[in-house]
Amino acid sequence: MIDSHAHLDSPRYDGDRLALLERAWSAGVRGILSIGIGDGPETMHRALEISREFAGRAGVPKIWASAGVHPHEARLADDAALSKLDGLLQEPEILACGEIGLDYFYDNSPREVQKAVFARQMEIAAARRKPIIIHCRPSENSSNAWDETLAMLEAHWAHTGLGGILHCFSGELRHARAALDLGFLISFAGNITFPKAQAIRDAALAVPLDRMLIETDAPFLAPVPNRGKRNEPAWVKEVALKIGELKKLDSAEVAGQTAQNFGFLAGMQNQMSFGNPAP
Ligand SMILES: [Zn+2]
Ligand SMILES: [Zn+2]
Repeated sequence: MIDSHAHLDSPRYDGDRLALLERAWSAGVRGILSIGIGDGPETMHRALEISREFAGRAGVPKIWASAGVHPHEARLADDAALSKLDGLLQEPEILACGEIGLDYFYDNSPREVQKAVFARQMEIAAARRKPIIIHCRPSENSSNAWDETLAMLEAHWAHTGLGGILHCFSGELRHARAALDLGFLISFAGNITFPKAQAIRDAALAVPLDRMLIETDAPFLAPVPNRGKRNEPAWVKEVALKIGELKKLDSAEVAGQTAQNFGFLAGMQNQMSFGNPAP
């Protein structure tokens, strides 16, 4: 399995990061994309440091990194932050720019600022030929952020042909279809196991297995039966199990195909090799 989205740089892992990576390896996780948003632009390099810290180590998954300014912190994306991002995107371990996008649920940054910073980051990623990881959350009972994100992807990104990932998908099926048309992979997270998440399960049933990824978004969104706890990459298997159950497939097939899909995205920059050596 590949966990396509985890915040391994979270301070919540400072006490046991190695043990957590070993548990992930034991659970069958061979790669993790560590999302480099930090606590804001000043710490967006920490995911890259973690990728380097564990490179080549036996018995832990291979770790790649991303870099980007989350929409929550868009108001902090000054010229220095964006030039830092540009530098990070030139590092070989950084597979993608993200997570970037629009969050109208919390509105931690003004919407106009979120949109401008999203567009700027798409320009930078396009120039560095890296795919993007999208975070999108509309305000309650609305699809506002989805409609605007998809329109912006159409205007600013589709022409690059670079594609990307819609992470932690929680939109409607029509949004998933529009993103698939734009060449994106759709990534499902632990919230697919939540009792009220029928819409997410409906989307997962409709998205073809060869266009899907699985993720934890750890330390957030721990799946059932660990809901409410600190999440960790080993638990990505719950997402594979749930998708297998929905699609009436063996979870090993879900794990293998989603790993291959991730490899295709990663292969745009790197020779893909799954995982570090066995212990
Ligand atoms: Zn997110
Ligand atoms: Zn995230």
